[in-house]
Amino acid sequence: EAASNRIAAGEVVERPASAIKELVENALDADARRVEITIADGGKTLLRVSDDGHGIPADQLPLALARHATSKIDGTDLLAITSFGFRGEALASMGAVGRLSLRSRPAGAEAAEITVTAGRIGPVRPAALSRGTVVELRDLFAATPARLKFLRTDRAEAQAIADTVRRLALAAPDAGFTLRDVSGGGEGRVVFRADPDEGAEARVARVLGRAFVDTALRVEAERDGLRLTGFAALPTEARGAAVAQHFMVNGRPVRDRLLLGALKAAYADVLAPGRHPACVLWLDLDPVRVDVNVHPAKAEVRFREAGDVRGLVVGALRHALAGAGH
Ligand code: ADP
Ligand code: MG
Repeated sequence: EAASNRIAAGEVVERPASAIKELVENALDADARRVEITIADGGKTLLRVSDDGHGIPADQLPLALARHATSKIDGTDLLAITSFGFRGEALASMGAVGRLSLRSRPAGAEAAEITVTAGRIGPVRPAALSRGTVVELRDLFAATPARLKFLRTDRAEAQAIADTVRRLALAAPDAGFTLRDVSGGGEGRVVFRADPDEGAEARVARVLGRAFVDTALRVEAERDGLRLTGFAALPTEARGAAVAQHFMVNGRPVRDRLLLGALKAAYADVLAPGRHPACVLWLDLDPVRVDVNVHPAKAEVRFREAGDVRGLVVGALRHALAGAGH
């Protein structure tokens, strides 16, 4: 069991940033209003995510660490996934590749803690915590030097974590985020902070810069139950940074070929070759119309009516460009 955990773990946790993604998504799935992320040494020695979400009852802690155990779907509604998580793999995988501790306190209950080291799950113990959940992953891949060697420099891994947190901060503009780097000890350094309920525009400005929001085209379209809102750069503002193209489908950050293709098509006549526009676009639709169950990393989605989605995105962007005189 421990060996198979270690092998499968590669899919969900291949570097510190992928662990952070899973942990923050869990916090958001628990309806957290504030998410605090602490890292040290590029996340290699310490990754900690604290939230004020609904927590995990003490008797459910061992289940939370079990492979393929999820509290989020009951097995009948796989076609309409609204949570980030649904595979029940992330915590089990992390327990197999580092020292994991899970501390939680649901409203009206006592706090409890469970730890897992190299796949061995310890007993549930009383703990001290005022509310929510704290997940700590220490010494990622310390027991698998080959995989540790595969990681990049602390600086590069910390950068990847910051990018991941910024992407999730865009996906969940109502939640508050703090990313702190405590390498070298002490209070550390705040790398990113975003207040809860600051609104979509302020959140986009925080992540992509005020200049982007001030010059960007507003995108707003709705058709046949598909809703698209957000910001797209003016052609003159277009930059090459692929990282600045943010698509959220039902609040989930995605890297989707169809959406990237639609963006490219909409700008085809107004951008110099090789240039790409920055954008932040939220697409919302009935969850039964999109399959998020395509890849474990969950960045890919499959739309049931791909042509309609492409049409809406291209149409909305062309409309916004035309309104700006392009
Ligand atoms: P999944 O998210 O796919 O369900 P995970 O391994 O990420 O699987 O988490 C397992 C379970 O642990 C979740 O289904 C949830 O019940 C619980 N859990 C994990 N993190 C949190 C959290 N921050 N707050 C509340 N519950 C959590
Ligand atoms: Mg999860």
